Amino acid sequence: MILVYAESNNKKFKKSSYEAISYGKKLSELINSDFTVITIGKNLDHSILKEYGANDIVHIPIDPKDNYDDEFYSNIISDYFNKKNFDIIIVSNTNHGKSITPSISLTTNCSLITNVVELPSSIEPFIIKKKVFSNKAYANYEISNKKKIISISPNSFGIKEIKSNSNTEFKELSPDIDYTSKLNSISINKNSDKISLPEADLVVSAGRGLKGPENWKMIEELSQVLGAATACSKPVSDIGWRPHSEHVGQTGISINPELYIAIGISGAIQHLAGVSSSKNIVVINTDKDAPFFKAADYGIVGDAFDVIPKLISEIKKFKSDN
Ligand SMILES: Cc1cc2nc3c(=O)[nH]c(=O)nc-3n(C[C@H](O)[C@H](O)[C@H](O)COP(=O)(O)OP(=O)(O)OC[C@H]3O[C@@H](n4cnc5c(N)ncnc54)[C@H](O)[C@@H]3O)c2cc1C
Repeated sequence: MILVYAESNNKKFKKSSYEAISYGKKLSELINSDFTVITIGKNLDHSILKEYGANDIVHIPIDPKDNYDDEFYSNIISDYFNKKNFDIIIVSNTNHGKSITPSISLTTNCSLITNVVELPSSIEPFIIKKKVFSNKAYANYEISNKKKIISISPNSFGIKEIKSNSNTEFKELSPDIDYTSKLNSISINKNSDKISLPEADLVVSAGRGLKGPENWKMIEELSQVLGAATACSKPVSDIGWRPHSEHVGQTGISINPELYIAIGISGAIQHLAGVSSSKNIVVINTDKDAPFFKAADYGIVGDAFDVIPKLISEIKKFKSDN
């Protein structure tokens, strides 16, 4: 039996949860097993989950005292998993997913497989593909433990919408766990009006080739006309031109968007480690020998200060014509 955890934030389900449910649905068909979706938090609209195949939902309508209390979530999920004797838990390998799965693994005796990119290629033995070495390679793992947590790399499996006519079975439960929070956030700084980088389908990223922070206006304008998130290379955030929350790569955030536009970034191996799984990569660089062109699907050899304003104006024109 499979349990899928649908993560939510600010009373909304995260896009990565739809992918986790899509994965759970396909895996349940593959191994001929039931699957249940578990959700946690007050005032969530569950109707959307049906579009991804969730027909059996268990909802725990309580909020933690502190939103960042990972132990609260892992206790509830472990408790339900153990009581109902599930075999597999599916979560998304988001920051929240990464925080809760190690303790769930301990309290459920599950083997934890992170950064999974596909459905298992074999069920007996259970073999599954995951990213390794900071996303520079893939490996197939064989897991002999019947109980496992599959943590899916966001945007790797994809969201599969389905037309379901069956009724959704919806249960509300009060967890029977004795839990006192040990966590209290003192201050939180949120980039609330920005598109979340790990969740974004489109990302516009820039590097040291931009020369200085004042030149990011055109990067922000390009992101805004495309509806994209902004990212940057490590030196750019180290110098303080951009916040660390935008730093992508081996030591930063790892992303898999549909489109990654890299402007004035050389394409060092440590940068590529976090972005090379992007479905389409566009590189804009003055140096035709920049290593990034080897990883690019499309490339423009040119000066960002010429190319970007032209790109913005063409996109605006295209949008107004269509
Ligand atoms: C342990 C370790 C971990 C690291 N982790 C990361 C990481 O997570 N992420 C990361 O990004 N880096 C990381 N780095 C640093 C990495 O090795 C590179 O130094 C870094 O990615 C280079 O950043 P950049 O491409 O912005 O700058 P540069 O290497 O200086 O490249 C700038 C590029 O801009 C081009 N350019 C210049 N002017 C223009 C223009 N007008 N228009 C268009 N193009 C122009 C240049 O041709 C050049 O290719 C790490 C390094 C180490 C040692």
